[in-house]
Amino acid sequence: MRLLFLGKQGCGKGTQAKIVAEKLGICHISTGDILRNTNGSLKKEVDNYMNKGSLIPDKLMLKIIKKRIYEQDCKKGFILDGFPRNLKQAKALDKITRIDHAVDIDIPDTESMRRLSGRLNCRKCGALFNLATNPPKIMGKCDVCGSILYQRADDKPKAIKKRLEVYYKETAPIINHYKAIKVNGTREINKVANKILEIIKC
Ligand code: AMP
Repeated sequence: MRLLFLGKQGCGKGTQAKIVAEKLGICHISTGDILRNTNGSLKKEVDNYMNKGSLIPDKLMLKIIKKRIYEQDCKKGFILDGFPRNLKQAKALDKITRIDHAVDIDIPDTESMRRLSGRLNCRKCGALFNLATNPPKIMGKCDVCGSILYQRADDKPKAIKKRLEVYYKETAPIINHYKAIKVNGTREINKVANKILEIIKC
């Protein structure tokens, strides 16, 4: 099964993609995570776009995604989280694969700002925390592996504002392109996950 999770920053795409991918035994592909793990000569260029809240050029993104979806672990299917980010990427994706269901996890802008500004990440194991909704047991430390937590540079207020602007201009039109089904992303994590599973009939 090939799924696409859409929604503005902080809507819970990553959290939901993890839950649903595990449940269905398919692969979770987060382009944001792939980019954050970029090494070598591309790292400086990628960080420069990301830290400002701008999109990485389509050409590079398409190269990354074309390679990733054909890897062995994607054979049973995948959930795309963070791709496509604009209509050009969507049309390029349509040429190489068929998407079975697209889900739009909907939250208001105020909730997006609130969630992103409290978000903390573990660099080592990838666990996500939120000062407002899911704080770590020990301040600044990961509950799972004990590593130090950090705030993404693009979760700082100026970059959040820019990312929301980019979302409305570039990404929101994709919702119509895929006739994505809307899910209320302000509900509890498990309720949102169940609703998504119901939509895709699993
Ligand atoms: P995310 O973790 O999905 O919020 O993505 C973080 C940042 O990575 C974005 O603000 C962009 O700078 C970059 N990024 C992730 N996915 C894409 C994409 N499909 N196209 C362009 N830039 C992307």
